[in-house]
Amino acid sequence: MSQHLPLRLYNTLTRQREDFVPIDRSKVRMYVCGPTVYDLAHIGNARPIIIFDVLYRLLRQLYGEAHVTYVRNITDVDDKINARAAERGISIRALTDETAAVFHEDVAELNCLPPDVEPRATEHIAEMIAIIDKLVAGGHAYAAEGHVLFSVPSMADYGGLSRRPLDEMIAGARVDVAAYKRDDMDFVLWKPSKESEPGWDSPWGRGRPGWHIECSAMSWKHLGETFDIHGGGIDLVFPHHENEIAQSRCAFGHSVMANVWMHNGFLQVEGEKMSKSLGNFVTIRDCLGDWPGEAIRFNMLKTHYRQPIDWTLASLRESKRELDRMYPLATQFAASPAMAPPEFVAALCDDLNLPEAITILRRLYTEALEGVALAGTRLASCGHMLGLFQKDLAAWNGWRPPSAHIDELHVQRLINARIAARKAKDFAESDRIRDELTGMGLQLRDGKDANGEFFTHWDVLR
Ligand code: AMP
Ligand code: ZN
Repeated sequence: MSQHLPLRLYNTLTRQREDFVPIDRSKVRMYVCGPTVYDLAHIGNARPIIIFDVLYRLLRQLYGEAHVTYVRNITDVDDKINARAAERGISIRALTDETAAVFHEDVAELNCLPPDVEPRATEHIAEMIAIIDKLVAGGHAYAAEGHVLFSVPSMADYGGLSRRPLDEMIAGARVDVAAYKRDDMDFVLWKPSKESEPGWDSPWGRGRPGWHIECSAMSWKHLGETFDIHGGGIDLVFPHHENEIAQSRCAFGHSVMANVWMHNGFLQVEGEKMSKSLGNFVTIRDCLGDWPGEAIRFNMLKTHYRQPIDWTLASLRESKRELDRMYPLATQFAASPAMAPPEFVAALCDDLNLPEAITILRRLYTEALEGVALAGTRLASCGHMLGLFQKDLAAWNGWRPPSAHIDELHVQRLINARIAARKAKDFAESDRIRDELTGMGLQLRDGKDANGEFFTHWDVLR
C-alpha cells in the first residue's frame, strides 16, 4: 500500500467534504447503481459511469488494485423491461442480454474499467427475500394483498439523506397511493406478478421485487452490511437511495449503510433537459458514432462532477481537438503511476477536482513541448490516471466516425494488398495495412477457406 495524501470526498449524507477513512483499508468497497437494461443508455447515464471510473482508478492507485472492490449492478427486472420486451415480441432475457451487451461495448469504448463484480438483480432474488423477511420480522415491513411494504413510520430517522421536508416527501409518495398502504410514504418491497409477468415464489406468493430492494440485496451480498462508498446520479438521492438506506439499516441494525454517499450532477444537452419529446436525446451509441470514446470521456471530465454539465457539440469538438494536440506527445512516453506529480494527485484527492487536474495536464503538455525534463512522462502518467491516451497514435489518428460512409471498394483494395503482402512475407507492410484498416474503425477476421487459401472478413466495429 502506497503512502498518500488524504482523500477528501463530499458526502451527501453530511453535506460536507470529509477525509475518507475506509472501514478496512485492505478492502475498500464501493457500490454504484447501474443501468436498467431496457434500452440504449443515454449520454447522461455515461456520466456516473465515467466519474466513478475515475474514482475507482484513484482508489486502486491509493490502496492497491487488490484492495478495492467496485460493484456496479445491472437492473434486469423492471416494469419498463417487461413492457419493452412485450412491445418487441422478444423474451425478457433476450432484451436484457442484448441491452447489457451494447452497454458493455459502449462503456469499454469510453475507457471505463469493468467493475470487479457486476451483479444482476434476477440472480439475487433469494437475498432480496431474506432482507424482506428480516424487515417483516423486525416490524419494519408488512404484507398486504400480495404486496410487501416498507413501513416508513417504523424508522425514526427516515429521510436523513435527502433531508426533504416531510410534506414534500408525502406529496411525492402520493403519486403512488394504494388502499393497501398503511401510510402514504410506505414503499413497495415486493409485488405480485400476473401469469404473464416475470415472478418468483416467495413467502408472500409469486411476485417480483421493487427497485430499491435490489440494490440493498446486491450491495449486501457483495460488499457486506456496511461499506465505504455508494454512488449514483443526483436524481437517485430520493427516493431510491433514501429507501435503500431505510431497508439496509433496518434489516441489519446499523447506523449507516454506506459511510460516504456521492452523487454526480445532471447532464443537459445544448442548454436543455434531454428528452425524447424534445428530440435532443443522445444515446452513448449515437455519440460514439460521431466521436472517439476518449474525446467523449475527456469532455465529461472537464466539468466538476457535482456541477451540472451542458453537453454541446462545440465542447465535444474542442475536446477532440485538444486530444489531437496532446496525443502525439503523450504517446511517446510510458505512463507510470509514480510519475504523476503530487499536485495532480492532490487535485484528484480533493473531491475529484477534475477541472484542476486537467489544468495541470495542460501545463504538463506545454512543458513537454518546451522540452522540460520528465514533463512528457508526467503528461502520459496523469493521462493514464484519467483513462486518456490509451490508444496508440496510429489508431487515434486513423479514427473515423463509424457512422461515416465506408468506401467498400477502397477497403477491398487494402485487404487484397494486405493478403499480397503476407504472401510475399512482407509482414511490416501487411501490419501497416492492418493498422490502417482498424484505424478506419473496421474489424478484421482472418481465416483459411477449404482450399487452405487465406482470406479476410471485415466488419464495421460497433
Ligand atoms: P437510470 O437508468 O435512469 O436509473 O440511470 C442510471 C444512472 O444514470 C443513474 O445513476 C442516474 O442518476 C444517472 N443519470 C440519468 N440521467 C442522467 C443525466 N441526465 N445526467 C447525469 N446522470 C444521469
Ligand atoms: Zn441502486
